[in-house]
Amino acid sequence: MTAKRIDGKAAALSIRQRVAELVPEFVAKAGRPPGLATVLVGEDPASAVYVRSKNRSTAEAGMVSFAHNLPDTISEDELLQLVIDLNADPQVDGILVQLPLPKQVNSTRVIETIDPGKDVDGFHPMNAGRLATGLPSLVPCTPFGCLSLLKSELGDLSGLDAVVIGRSNIVGKPMAQLLIGESATVTVAHSRTRDLPGVVRRADIVVAAVGRPEMVRGDWIKPGATVIDVGINRVPTDDGKGRLVGDVAFDEAAQIAGAITPVPGGVGPMTIAMLMRNTLVAAHRREGLKDPEGL
Ligand code: NAP
Repeated sequence: MTAKRIDGKAAALSIRQRVAELVPEFVAKAGRPPGLATVLVGEDPASAVYVRSKNRSTAEAGMVSFAHNLPDTISEDELLQLVIDLNADPQVDGILVQLPLPKQVNSTRVIETIDPGKDVDGFHPMNAGRLATGLPSLVPCTPFGCLSLLKSELGDLSGLDAVVIGRSNIVGKPMAQLLIGESATVTVAHSRTRDLPGVVRRADIVVAAVGRPEMVRGDWIKPGATVIDVGINRVPTDDGKGRLVGDVAFDEAAQIAGAITPVPGGVGPMTIAMLMRNTLVAAHRREGLKDPEGL
């Protein structure tokens, strides 16, 4: 069997187009465009690429981006002050602080300082708690994007066996909460899990968020399962440029799975699309408007 390749690029484009359609309606009601503030600390090339692309997508959707690029020598107090200022800025609906942050800055303190209503990454404990208790919240973009792909592919997820590999606050845990919310039967695996291949073999849905290149092998996959590969790993190549691979051995898994996301072109584009969606939703809520429909 050869799995269907899930096209995250196309799905992301349609979400971004929907956001762009809804922005003028928001502007008509609020008298201003939605605004996203991005905070990039230091020179990490991968982080710089992500943040540039987030700023570009924001502008393409007709929203305003406020880019703050800071040196990696910044103190924690200076960064906290910037977040406090952005919390108070009426033009800013979303605040995205690109992680990781330099050693002298406590990321948890920074995240906890962001106004939960502007926390478009969904990392604030208030949003994590609201997601866990089934209340409206801002949901972390990557797992939200994974859920959207799964629902488009499978429709109703209720009763399906799902295995999430990874328990980070950014991907694994919120992914598990979202799947519980859809009434899937969820197992969260991690580095201490015994017999991981055996656990994965039971799953109708596999979400791999590990950060280990091609760790999930084809013979771990239940025939016909839907596989969502969150991993982004650069592996060396002979030409020295390197190549991106996921956490799943794609060629092997595609022989067994029913559907699978590629890397790149799967989950990655959905993350930015969901950031655009969260920014628009945050803007509506800040203005006391109903959440936009069709997102
Ligand atoms: P993370 O914080 O490093 O968490 C990795 C998780 O994998 C941990 O829970 C860890 O278990 C588990 N793990 C590590 N080795 C394992 C093993 N041998 N067997 C089973 N579980 C193992 O990473 P993350 O931030 O969640 O990111 C995961 C991957 O997704 C990375 O490749 C990252 O680049 C990618 N990512 C992609 C996007 C996107 O937009 N596509 C966004 C975010 C992240 P313990 O908890 O026991 O240590």
